[in-house]
Amino acid sequence: MRLVAGNWKMNGSRALVGEMIGGLAERMSGAPPRCGVAVCPPAHLLEAARAAAGEGVQIGGQDCSDEAGPGAFTGELSAAMLADAGCRYVIVGHSERRQRLGEDDALVRAKAGQALAAGLIPIICVGEVLSEREAGEAVARVTAQVRGSLPDGAKRGAVVVAYEPVWAIGTGLTATGEDIAEMHAAIGRELGDLRQVVPILYGGSVKAKNAGEILSTAGVDGALVGGASLALDEFWAIVAAA
Ligand code: PEP
Repeated sequence: MRLVAGNWKMNGSRALVGEMIGGLAERMSGAPPRCGVAVCPPAHLLEAARAAAGEGVQIGGQDCSDEAGPGAFTGELSAAMLADAGCRYVIVGHSERRQRLGEDDALVRAKAGQALAAGLIPIICVGEVLSEREAGEAVARVTAQVRGSLPDGAKRGAVVVAYEPVWAIGTGLTATGEDIAEMHAAIGRELGDLRQVVPILYGGSVKAKNAGEILSTAGVDGALVGGASLALDEFWAIVAAA
């Protein structure tokens, strides 16, 4: 199943939940899309988001602890807590966390494992920085991240991979169709037999205007969308393109 997932990052309010998630639920009940739709708001909005989402829109967290908990981990949210809040997905290994907080593959793998154990679907983010692409190391870097971040127990419907070139996130730049197809094929080879059952999303400045082209690129099973997931018409156009 194709998937379009919105990552609100540290944006949003109760008002935006009503407007965006309520609005999406309403549009989806009138015209059910042929792809899964998920929104990952900040943690304080999860409950309101779940209430506004209805049947069609799935809710996800933006991160989870590598500890199962419960326990003394101030500021952390366990995967089980996200499941309790009605989440279906959780993003792990987003580049903003890998880069700013130094999260490495082993930590991302542990978080993804906790997500699986709690019955959530981890959206495991991988992607190269610009210097790695310029040095011709992008494929090696990204496939190594996939190898290092994928938890045991990944099977049909259990895990999603999101390829997000770091230099394309929030910058308005996108990879070329050729680069995206090459990387998705390389990730697919790395996944081996799992490729049949693990969707690979593309993320990095996906907008209404480029969604059709990106989503029809070989090997692209959906999109992880940041900025454009904060405006209803823009996000809905991406869902329609998928
Ligand atoms: C993201 O945060 O995962 C992302 C892809 O952001 P943007 O769409 O704004 O580039």
